[in-house]
Amino acid sequence: MIPRTIFSHEHEQFRDTVRRFIDQEIVPHHERWEEAGMVDRDLWRKAGAAGLLCANLPEAYGGFGADYLFNVVITEELSRAGATGPGFAVHSDMVATYIATFASEELKHRWLPKMASGEAIGALGLSEPGAGSDLKNITTRAIRDGDDYVITGQKVFISNGQLCDFVLVACKTDPSAGARGMSFILVEVDRPGFRRGRNLKKFGLKAQDTSELFFDEVRVPVSNLVGKEGGGFGMAMSKLAEERLSIAVSAITVAETAMQWTIEYTKDRRAFGQAISEFQNTRFKLAELHAEITVKRVFVDHCIARHLEKQLTPVDAAIAKMLCGELQVKTVDECLQFFGGYGYMLEYPIARAFIDSRIRRIAGGTSEIMREIIGRELFKE
Ligand SMILES: Cc1cc2nc3c(=O)[nH]c(=O)nc-3n(C[C@H](O)[C@H](O)[C@H](O)COP(=O)(O)OP(=O)(O)OC[C@H]3O[C@@H](n4cnc5c(N)ncnc54)[C@H](O)[C@@H]3O)c2cc1C
Repeated sequence: MIPRTIFSHEHEQFRDTVRRFIDQEIVPHHERWEEAGMVDRDLWRKAGAAGLLCANLPEAYGGFGADYLFNVVITEELSRAGATGPGFAVHSDMVATYIATFASEELKHRWLPKMASGEAIGALGLSEPGAGSDLKNITTRAIRDGDDYVITGQKVFISNGQLCDFVLVACKTDPSAGARGMSFILVEVDRPGFRRGRNLKKFGLKAQDTSELFFDEVRVPVSNLVGKEGGGFGMAMSKLAEERLSIAVSAITVAETAMQWTIEYTKDRRAFGQAISEFQNTRFKLAELHAEITVKRVFVDHCIARHLEKQLTPVDAAIAKMLCGELQVKTVDECLQFFGGYGYMLEYPIARAFIDSRIRRIAGGTSEIMREIIGRELFKE
């Protein structure tokens, strides 16, 4: 591996803490959570106490003013452990970031310290049954009525949907204005008219709750608006780059981890009087994957450095998400093959990684939408 240069001694010390937390508080419970379809609520409070939530928030809002690299460390270690249940990334890297960047001081002080401590869990409601990639086409409406908005509509596939205390909801405040008519409104789950639907049955990410959410004339004060009215589409576009970078970080880490499992396994497993690792096919396949992972890891670290300088472009984030997401899917599939029948057994981490990986080409913007973003840039006038 090319040595990574983005982390300091402090980040590596934090990595040890995160690893210990995951080994003690997540790994022993993950299988039970997969059966339950969600993690224990208590995990969030423990994670908050250990500094694993919203690490990069300023101290005034409950964080410890850490840089984005601390979030990267958390994402990498969860990914390395195959801990796909805790929806920390959506909560910390998306919802808290939206609030910290765009919300009023009153909303920041009300929610961010609770998010950092794990007392409150956030969800982000963009996708709807009729609109996912085509975000402009959402139909959830927020109609102004005096000092309130009245929200009606439906969301789908919402991570943390069962456990959340509030949802940051993308709504149309002016349906006639297209993208410029979209706004974000914070909706607490105890408001009359809000209802959680099913915890959707998925073939992967089984310990992460993913839900339908219903809004039937939910009344919220205008002060729950996050950012400017009509500014929602621009806000989503500006924050999606960070989400996509975070997905790329996770994806490349899973690919590296799958390689390590496979190297170990093929050294031990024997066929035709020799270790599987001694077949040229094994060495060539793993060499190709290693080469691809090495190159893409360097690119991801470059994107992280650009993000720290606030210079990461949406196009670079789309490239990272597309390439690393697809590499994760390919690597896990190719590595699984070296495990033979054992690779099909869920007690082997490679089997679980296989089913958990497929999401990479879909959520956070599909691979096709990433190609659209990159292609559009190429033909920009
Ligand atoms: C496990 C999971 C968790 C999720 N978590 C969240 C969450 O927390 N919050 C949230 O808001 N959403 C969430 N999503 C939703 C996710 O972001 C969407 O599923 C995704 O953006 C795709 O939207 P869609 O499902 O409506 O597919 P569609 O947009 O209907 O796309 C269907 C197919 O058409 C292709 N397509 C669409 N437009 C184009 C185009 N212009 N050119 C070429 N091909 C195109 C797509 O690439 C795809 O292959 C989650 C989804 C899953 C599965």
